[in-house]
Amino acid sequence: MKLAQLIGNRQIAQTLQNALIRGMLAHAYLFHGAQGVGKRTGALALAQAYLCLEPVEGDSCGQCLSCRKVASGNHPDVHIYRPSGASIKIEQVRELQKTLYFKPYEGKGKVYILEGADTMKAEAANSMLKSMEEPPEDTLLIFIATNTYAILPTILSRCQAMHFKKVSQGAVEEWLMGEIGLQGDKARFVAALADGSLAKALEWSGSEEARLIRDQLVQLARSMRNLSLSDVFKISEEWEKKKEELVSALDLLEIWYRDLLIWQETEVQDLLVNIDCLEMIKEEVGVWNSRDLMVVLDALEEAKKALRSNGNLRLVLDRLFITLNEPQDKGELRRTS
Ligand SMILES: [Zn+2]
Repeated sequence: MKLAQLIGNRQIAQTLQNALIRGMLAHAYLFHGAQGVGKRTGALALAQAYLCLEPVEGDSCGQCLSCRKVASGNHPDVHIYRPSGASIKIEQVRELQKTLYFKPYEGKGKVYILEGADTMKAEAANSMLKSMEEPPEDTLLIFIATNTYAILPTILSRCQAMHFKKVSQGAVEEWLMGEIGLQGDKARFVAALADGSLAKALEWSGSEEARLIRDQLVQLARSMRNLSLSDVFKISEEWEKKKEELVSALDLLEIWYRDLLIWQETEVQDLLVNIDCLEMIKEEVGVWNSRDLMVVLDALEEAKKALRSNGNLRLVLDRLFITLNEPQDKGELRRTS
């Protein structure tokens, strides 16, 4: 892929292209940011541009032998290291160091890409550091990390750090329609679910699964209004155990209840994500007041946070389900009927 084709992080691509044009590329880069925002793709695009035999405006040509080899993962001068198990091990760093001072096989230089650089323990990191103190001329190191706080400051200070931002929902939507060929309403739905991650978008784009799960979740959420509190707590207890499935379930519920709130406040169809469920959205909105919808959205956010940080998930799920069990307007309907 060319640098110019990076989605959502145009500024980074432009900075790298300018550095390549002026021959001012740093010896080591750190690409950091959330999962799935294009760090790895960016690293490969930079490797391709760096090794390209006929670069155009600091970017790769995409046609030459070198470009084709990088694109197909077969360039002998591009070395990619991934955590072996939970972390990048010292043995891997030593292996990297063995070839570091060799001449490139065929390219203009060598590129080392280290995924999960934030998983390096002190021993591996210190060993890595030694190589960074006297980097060979024709070598480019690209570290990839989700977090920077787990990286040794001494390594950080020798890298040029670039923060890959989440891709905007609109850009993901456009990409899904243009590159993946998704229909407008599905593209919007998948883009909302992807939360700024192209990898996530790609994962959801291939099937109708997300919509099916959403339908089941919405049914379940609606049915909670007819359950006793003890049954509601039972569901909460079951959900707490299904941590894996919960991640996307909470996302799906969040975009659903956000839609209810949006419809209640604006009645603008274009702002909805679950556009294929317009009739049900109109129906559901009658049951809710905006304050309770806000409580639900807040509880969903809290649940996501608890899930990420091993917080008290059960407590938040209980709060969420109690609100789903008895939204206030429904309570009022009951009392007056
Ligand atoms: Zn090329």
